[in-house]
Amino acid sequence: MTTHIDRTHGAALASWVESAHGHAQFPIQNLPMGVFATGASARIGCAIGDQVLDVAAALSAGLLPDVDTRTARAVTGETLNAWMALDAAQRRTLRVDLSRLLEAGSHTGAIAQRHRGVILHAQEDCRMLLPAQVGDYTDYYAGIHHAYNCGVIFRPEQPLQPNYKHLPVAYHGRASTLMPSGVPVHRPSGQVRVDGDGGPQGRFQPTARLDYELELAIWVGPGNPLATRIDIAQAAQHVAGFGLLNDWSARDIQAWESAPLGPFLGKNFMTSVSPWVVTSDAMAPFRAARMPRDASDPRPLAYLDDADDAACGGLSIALEVHLSTRRMREAGLAPHRLSHGDASALWWTPAQMVAHHTAGGCNLRPGDLIGTGTISMPEGRECGCLLEMTHGGKRPVQLPNGEVRSFLEDGDEVVLRGTCRREGFASIGFGECRGQVRG
Ligand code: CA
Repeated sequence: MTTHIDRTHGAALASWVESAHGHAQFPIQNLPMGVFATGASARIGCAIGDQVLDVAAALSAGLLPDVDTRTARAVTGETLNAWMALDAAQRRTLRVDLSRLLEAGSHTGAIAQRHRGVILHAQEDCRMLLPAQVGDYTDYYAGIHHAYNCGVIFRPEQPLQPNYKHLPVAYHGRASTLMPSGVPVHRPSGQVRVDGDGGPQGRFQPTARLDYELELAIWVGPGNPLATRIDIAQAAQHVAGFGLLNDWSARDIQAWESAPLGPFLGKNFMTSVSPWVVTSDAMAPFRAARMPRDASDPRPLAYLDDADDAACGGLSIALEVHLSTRRMREAGLAPHRLSHGDASALWWTPAQMVAHHTAGGCNLRPGDLIGTGTISMPEGRECGCLLEMTHGGKRPVQLPNGEVRSFLEDGDEVVLRGTCRREGFASIGFGECRGQVRG
């Protein structure tokens, strides 16, 4: 099942970590996993309020009594790959133990409080790293309004390709340039098209059309051996958690190079990922029905169709993009919210993406990363990238301080945020995915 609600989700649950009370991102109901460093060595942590719980230190102090030896090994590593490789039941047992450890009034919590100097670090003193060593990164195109809006710009006569509602479209991305939130993005140079008397020619120059893309990150769990497939009914068990992802894009390089194959240098210079993995268990109250199909839409083929996934395989996450320019920061102005949207605008669910990825026998491995594709809303300017928002650069965005943007300029900083809210449950957040453009 995709959703399993238990006492770790209880709205009344409170932590002895004071800052977790009503924390907008990391109350005790969230417990996202990440990798942090206070000095040279990387350790696995769990966010609670404005603190990070050192999970291995908590294990050493005997505060995680129910975890088995495989889980114990997994949480003492320097990446989350081994944790992602655990069975869904093992990850859930760890979550229950972490919840008890951090719960106010629990027996374990009372003991843990006496160890707080050893097991807790202030988040502001921690450097957050990429959660996993990513073997492979795949980027889907599942945001249907983004696909439609981009299609209108490039192919107004047929905005959605004929395959779009039949299969989740994707390309294989680049893992070596995945970076955690906070790492600056350097404006890439590449070949762009110039039209002269002799027809189109290439010119090598810094991109003049640097863009961001608001996406969700899907962290792959156990995965599958080569030449096997993951059944749609089991696919949710192979998702360890979620994050925010910014697929930085150079639109002029992308437009010239992407014929007839897909994105290459227009995308591979860097991709930013938020450092906290919001677990599939934490997301249980915030699942949604998959996007409804009209009678004229094709029914998903059997390998992409499952009743549980149709009922609750989607995600309900409020998403926001904020921009601050150098001039805004120098004037002490707050970042400007460029757009907001919701993950429910994904045509394909994470389980469908996993099932499709493996349908031909491709093996997914623990710590592989899947991007959902840019998430935009149906109308207006609530778009997940500037290409759409400015109609290919033709209608620049006006910022409150009088500046305008068609595409990103040096010094611009983009911050993605995500929040889950549902009546009767504590709200949880994804933290942020931040990156500043350098020339
Ligand atoms: Ca993308």
